Amino acid sequence: MCDFPTQAILLRRTSYGDYDLIVTLLTLSGGKRTVIAKNAKKSRKRFAGVLEPFSLLQVSCTGPRGGGMAVLQEASLENPCAGIRGDIMKTAYASYWAEMIHAWMEEGKEQPRIYYLLRDFLQFLESGATANEALSIIFHLRFLSFSGLAPNLSRCGGCHAAMDQMPGSRFFFELAKGGILCEGCSANTPSRISLSRGTIKQLLWIQSNDWRTSGKLKLNQAALYEGLRSLEKFVAFHLGKEPKSLKFLQDLRNSARLEAQRQQHLGNIENDGSTSDH
Ligand SMILES: [Zn+2]
Repeated sequence: MCDFPTQAILLRRTSYGDYDLIVTLLTLSGGKRTVIAKNAKKSRKRFAGVLEPFSLLQVSCTGPRGGGMAVLQEASLENPCAGIRGDIMKTAYASYWAEMIHAWMEEGKEQPRIYYLLRDFLQFLESGATANEALSIIFHLRFLSFSGLAPNLSRCGGCHAAMDQMPGSRFFFELAKGGILCEGCSANTPSRISLSRGTIKQLLWIQSNDWRTSGKLKLNQAALYEGLRSLEKFVAFHLGKEPKSLKFLQDLRNSARLEAQRQQHLGNIENDGSTSDH
């Protein structure tokens, strides 16, 4: 039931027949709720421009009664987060976070910490104050911690040696163990996602600081790459499937990286050209 007004974030919407939309909301007071927005497609006045992905809303619903679906009665915008939808990379990150929450959460289970996490991170993503990749790493670590699945990054999951005492400079993130393994303990394990000591230290620092402080940490390229790769695989492992929006995000990120390399290469050629003139 969500008869009372509550704050909500639109996670997903799909057409239902010619007139209606089925909308999945992450609500503050009622957790994930799937509701029907009647005539949302037909009437221009009703819900006009409101039921957009990642919009922060104030909603009221009735029902469900008699086994049907709860009905969205009113929805007004608190923040449209239009800056996200106008940027394809930010849209890809927000879609992935929304799909992660949609797939993870049970219908109707109140989880205000997850609500505030997504609300804050959408607004932070829109502001552009922190690089998207770093923000996504922080989002993963917070989300996993709230879900009771915080990865163990401080000790080897096999021999329990503390990270600082583990020999070597490369370690491995083991999905089934939910944390890192030293080189010796990881020899016959299936995932072997390589992580450097430097990356693990930066992830540990994020785990032990609030996200506003962590947002100021400048993660190096290796930490961004290795951190995202291991956390995205860890989420997919626990969901039992790879989110569709993750594939899109990764493809987009790869083409952005190739484009940056191409630009850098062109810049080098131009520099070479200008020096040879003299
Ligand atoms: Zn070990």
